[in-house]
Amino acid sequence: MQRAIKLLRVMGIQISLDYTWFIIFGLVAWTLAQGYFPSVSPGLGVGVYIAMGIVSSILLFACVLIHELSHSYVANRLGMDIKEITLFIFGGVAQLTKEPDDPKVELKIAIAGPIATGLLAASFWFVKEILDSFAIYPVASSIFNYIVIINIVLIIFNMIPGFPLDGGRVLRAIWWMKSGDIQKATMIASRVGKGFALFLIFFGLLQLFTGNIIGGLWAVFIGIFLQQVAEGGYREVVIKKSLRGIIIGNIMTRGVITIEGDFSLQRIVDEYFFKYHFNSFPVISSSKLVGVLSLNDVRAISRDAWGTTKVRDVMKPIDQQAILSQESTALDALTKMVELGVGRLPVLGKGRLVGIISRRDLMKLMAFKTDLGI
Ligand SMILES: [Zn+2]
Repeated sequence: MQRAIKLLRVMGIQISLDYTWFIIFGLVAWTLAQGYFPSVSPGLGVGVYIAMGIVSSILLFACVLIHELSHSYVANRLGMDIKEITLFIFGGVAQLTKEPDDPKVELKIAIAGPIATGLLAASFWFVKEILDSFAIYPVASSIFNYIVIINIVLIIFNMIPGFPLDGGRVLRAIWWMKSGDIQKATMIASRVGKGFALFLIFFGLLQLFTGNIIGGLWAVFIGIFLQQVAEGGYREVVIKKSLRGIIIGNIMTRGVITIEGDFSLQRIVDEYFFKYHFNSFPVISSSKLVGVLSLNDVRAISRDAWGTTKVRDVMKPIDQQAILSQESTALDALTKMVELGVGRLPVLGKGRLVGIISRRDLMKLMAFKTDLGI
């Protein structure tokens, strides 16, 4: 998530803010300041409405954050490892480093957010009632009233039983518990999610035609977003399931072409890049893997210097994180590739380079399995 800025740390969890949040923040504040508040609390100044809009947006943001933190808090208590939450256009996404392998864990994590939102709604309602009964701070009461409404809307929206929404996760967990089949459970929750997404898109388009531009656009965008996540969530489970049981040692490419650290770049270009057409080569020094030389590393050096520049001077030293063992699974490999943003990983056995695994190898494997109906 490079599009996000780091905001603060809570309970060891990094909270980041996707740039799309600023758009939403502005849009919500503006809609409230010029439409909602003037109609529910008439007779105030423009400046007051703007301030009300901004304060409400900040409170809304805090409520969404608390909702996400509740999911993460419960997840971490149950042995998951959530290090980062990114708040983006339609709420938040907790970065799960692993998926729960027990439906009860998933159920508890899923329900924690809506419970927190329910408590928030109740607390704000309580404060608002007190203010109203003494007839004091009408502006604050109006803001709290809005926050109560928005939290109730958040609960209803989140509890729609379509994946990836919380309700969809609850449905998935219950189905998974009953059947023991996470793939089937995800498929059903995803289908409901996609159905709801299509309904939202359709509803949004209808709104657009009847002149409700902003509401219509909202519905269409949220629908498209949910549709994509529902689709992706199911595909992810299928991919994970099929990659989990595969040992890297059985599928990696052996007999990797390696180069020596003291070779010159000229020699590598002539005898390796031209011959094998690979984008990068592992670099070996006294039979140990020490780095990787890519075409980009060579390109960064001017041509006249290729004869005198040695591989070890321009290669990227090997990142200890970017190494797999023969016993790792294909799922470990894919997770690592996604995390590090690389397409190939070296595989070590007893400290020596024994093979290499690429994203393409994994995709080919998936395609074979699908073709054979496995
Ligand atoms: Zn949630």
